[in-house]
Amino acid sequence: MIRHKTREVRVGNFTIGGDAPIVVQSMLNLPPENIEANIAQARALEQAGCQIIRIAVPGRAGLDLIRPLKQAVNCPIVADIHFDYRLALAALEEGIDKIRINPGNIGSMDRVRQVALACKDHGVPIRIGVNGGSLEPEILHRYGGHPTPEAMVESARYHIGLLESLGFYDIVLSLKSSDVKTMLDAYRLAAQTFPYPLHLGVTEAGTPKIGLLKSAIGIGSLLADGIGDTIRVSLTADPAEEIPAAYDILKAAGRAQKGVTIVSCPTCGRTRIGLIELAKQVEEALRDCEKPIRVAVMGCIVNGPGEAREADIGIAGGNGEGVIFRHGEVLCKVPENQLVETLLRYIDEM
Ligand code: SF4
Repeated sequence: MIRHKTREVRVGNFTIGGDAPIVVQSMLNLPPENIEANIAQARALEQAGCQIIRIAVPGRAGLDLIRPLKQAVNCPIVADIHFDYRLALAALEEGIDKIRINPGNIGSMDRVRQVALACKDHGVPIRIGVNGGSLEPEILHRYGGHPTPEAMVESARYHIGLLESLGFYDIVLSLKSSDVKTMLDAYRLAAQTFPYPLHLGVTEAGTPKIGLLKSAIGIGSLLADGIGDTIRVSLTADPAEEIPAAYDILKAAGRAQKGVTIVSCPTCGRTRIGLIELAKQVEEALRDCEKPIRVAVMGCIVNGPGEAREADIGIAGGNGEGVIFRHGEVLCKVPENQLVETLLRYIDEM
């Protein structure tokens, strides 16, 4: 797979873009006044594997959250700012690592200059977050009143142009839409148009089940095409749920740097073993395993090892027993109740 080439942008201790691994991020969703609860949520996100944490900064309380958060977690913190350039300047003073702001929304060019120069001084990048639901009225009008992919890219061009005119290039770009097809086309067009790293997301994706599905199609399709440098799965749920979802999408798109990919068959009339339960046990046991391996859980000895030849290790069920195989080759036969522990022992030794 060829990765779409983008500029490298530093965000705290992470690099976004270039050949850097794809960064997983999420956003806190508690009122900023409650510092303790926000710290607990940030720690839970970090524990789950979140690499960059964004916070809303609607006013002073958001600013006051930045320092305690930075002391509590190692993840870089991003301030999400709408319209008020003074909050951006103040967030930089509080030690923020990245700012999400659309320069065309903050008023005069002098304000844009102040923010861009201050970000440059602090070595802090800016994410321009184009959202299909809030495009500039003039641009929307030019595109027949619809937030088309072309209109979204036009909006990105406008905001990027403001920063580039000031010699500011530490830019990350997102073009989110709640419509998966629009989002896909907007990102594909942006990838051909701009050199900046892309933050992928389907916005307002919904509750966990449908949200994961839409994100898997939207984010996953782009990743599979080599597009995307950082991802956020937006779920109407505890943000900690977004992190395993994000890693599952990375794995499914073949873009994960670490972690086990499970391959398991759907079972059929040939299955003579409790495969559904076995697959759940294997998945659960390997959830935190960081080895970048493919593990197969197959329902029959006749077809399983062959069909899962690409797997690094796997099990295939028989009648009350099963085999362990590696790249299609059977290693040993074991009773059904010892299959999982034997498999895990082999994986331990890999
Ligand atoms: S691996 Fe065997 S049990 Fe599973 S679906 Fe294929 S034929 Fe059926």
